[in-house]
Amino acid sequence: MIRDKLRAESVAISRRPRLRRLTVDDRGRALSLLGCGSRHQTRASRALPAAQALLLVAALFSAACFGGPQVVTPVLVAPRFANSAPPPPVTVMRPPASVADDPFHGVDPFDWPSPSRVRTASGAPGPEYWQQRADYTIAATLDTTDKTVRGTVSIRYTNNSPDTLRFVWLQLDQNLYKPGSKGSFVFPPQSRFGVRGFQGGFDITGLQVNGRGTAGKIDDTMMRIDLDTPLLPKGGQLTIGMQYSFAVPEHGSDRMGRDSSLYLIAQWYPRMAVYDDARGWNTEPYLGQGEFYLDYGDIDYTVTVPAGFVVAGSGTLQNGRDVLTTAQADRLDRASRTASVIQVVTANEAAAKRGRTISGAKSWHFRAERVRDVAWAAAPDFRWDATSWDGVLMQALYQSPKSGQAWESAAEQTQWAIRTYSDLWMRYPYPQATSVAGSVSGMEYPMLVMVGYGTGDPSSIFSTIDHEQGHEWFPMIVGSNERRHAWMDEGFNTFQNAFSNERRNPGTAAFPAYLSSWRQTVENGRQSPLMTPADRIDPDALGAIAYRKPGAVLLALRTAVVGRETMDRAMREYVRRWAFKHPTPADFFRTVENVSGEDLGWFWRAFFYGTDVLDIAVDGVTMRQAAGENVVEIHLRRATSIPFPVIMRLKLDDRSTTDIRLPVEIWTRTDRYVATIPVRRAVVGVRLWPDPSVPDVNSANDVWGDAPLPDTQAGSAAGSSSPSVRPPGPGNP
Ligand SMILES: [Zn+2]
Repeated sequence: MIRDKLRAESVAISRRPRLRRLTVDDRGRALSLLGCGSRHQTRASRALPAAQALLLVAALFSAACFGGPQVVTPVLVAPRFANSAPPPPVTVMRPPASVADDPFHGVDPFDWPSPSRVRTASGAPGPEYWQQRADYTIAATLDTTDKTVRGTVSIRYTNNSPDTLRFVWLQLDQNLYKPGSKGSFVFPPQSRFGVRGFQGGFDITGLQVNGRGTAGKIDDTMMRIDLDTPLLPKGGQLTIGMQYSFAVPEHGSDRMGRDSSLYLIAQWYPRMAVYDDARGWNTEPYLGQGEFYLDYGDIDYTVTVPAGFVVAGSGTLQNGRDVLTTAQADRLDRASRTASVIQVVTANEAAAKRGRTISGAKSWHFRAERVRDVAWAAAPDFRWDATSWDGVLMQALYQSPKSGQAWESAAEQTQWAIRTYSDLWMRYPYPQATSVAGSVSGMEYPMLVMVGYGTGDPSSIFSTIDHEQGHEWFPMIVGSNERRHAWMDEGFNTFQNAFSNERRNPGTAAFPAYLSSWRQTVENGRQSPLMTPADRIDPDALGAIAYRKPGAVLLALRTAVVGRETMDRAMREYVRRWAFKHPTPADFFRTVENVSGEDLGWFWRAFFYGTDVLDIAVDGVTMRQAAGENVVEIHLRRATSIPFPVIMRLKLDDRSTTDIRLPVEIWTRTDRYVATIPVRRAVVGVRLWPDPSVPDVNSANDVWGDAPLPDTQAGSAAGSSSPSVRPPGPGNP
């Protein structure tokens, strides 16, 4: 799904200063008036010189290994402090006024759900990993007179779980349009996900299980079927069949719908809910804002439409020679073998069909394998462009002039997006990728995405095509639960869109706009943690919380915490492990921690489970002599509950600069830290975050003195040090 339009203006964030009730004893130690437990005791810190030297070694080692900031001037010999006078205290402990202020709260390791034989401690699927399988055969007819879809569906459901199932759940998403649906009360009628007063919903008849008639128990958009015969574990199968119909809403909550002669059809057949090891049946209803969670299988479907219509669909068209003219079928063949864009249906051919009724009907037969869903679109006057890359057919279908001339570039843009994400993570595993222009602003399905109309400018549709096609990786290939964890599809997608946009438009950077969007929700009080289920995020904050905050924090994780090469490797490993499977948040967190070798509990807690913001300050700088050498002391303070590794650039009085990195562990017991650093000459200025890809919300306290210049906003171009992974399959477990 596409986010709301980016509002790029920068909004400074204001935070009320934290008031702490403190007193100071006669030795200058801070004491709490509230009483403090053992973990909150003040420490006069006799300042462990050896430990501090070690920390510096760690800091500089880290900086050297990191690949981000460079240590321009070597400034440390490890045992340097061994014979020098003990440096002054490095920590000033302030007792916390709340849990959020508790310095231990932010840096405690995070305990994920217990690992198991299904999901391992390292974040990979375990030796007993299982997931259900749902294969569908569908035959549907689009009636353009009463604007209705009627069909039959047969679902072969395979229970690979170790559990005997006595009932199953299906999703009936069209029931969002039944009067009184849950979603109609949650999202205002005229809003993006609202029902706009449309009355529809599934009409289901002839429900059967294994050929025997039965009744389902329908609750809003979910239906439970109680089984006469229990479905046996580890391979037990049953077949569910039914006839169904629904009136096609004009505004299908911005996920499907119609616009005059154009039909954009999705959520169009009863689909199996997911039964998994994490939650059993996932039965959150479809309310509109939260997307989908579906099992994998093969879907064979036939769509019968008026004879003059052209249909685009998920999967591979099985009967092109039956539904296209010979010339068009030949062009489609040619497009599948060339990187040039071929007009399968030309502008003239499309124009000739506009407004003309051709009697009769034609059935378009598609087959999609290893997918979680299928969708399709139909119109009488589609133009159809196609090209290919590495055996993958890329297509764009659009109506002229309604869609805007930009769409003449859409096949190329589709190819570009698929190539880019194939290069970043894993080669695109499907035979084709299609972009369709329409009234849905942006919505993704396997092998087919819906993208809003454009203008005359090709760039007017690029970011949406790029975003929706990016969803082929998250969640179409890596099949997370979107309704529960929007950041695992929209967030990952927004993260990777940064790379794609920067490759397409060299010299640009996505991070500042992501950060600005996040700041706005903090300012206007609409923020919620990234872990908030999709339907419970404030609709006005959806763009920030589901998309840009996760995009920003993942970019920061890559740029400023684990390093670019390591993050790219971790993402590839995550994609490799979970392609065509169902990862949970912990599987991602564990994978990143295992690949990077870092305990990132503080990071997940800060940015995924909490709503606090990062604000680290340089409070002051002092120079002194130690053993005849210049030593600079930089007084750092973290103004919020969130710790972060400190990266700073020092400017010396000869105008040279040097970059220093301090590990996040400096904040383990404190919110104050004095970094003691040997330097050649006097330090005249300091800047935190010389690479500005760190989400510190208050830049005013990030500089001291004659601060050195920051880097220009670093592009996020993905590391190219390792190849993307191959899709799992025969010979590639
Ligand atoms: Zn999206």
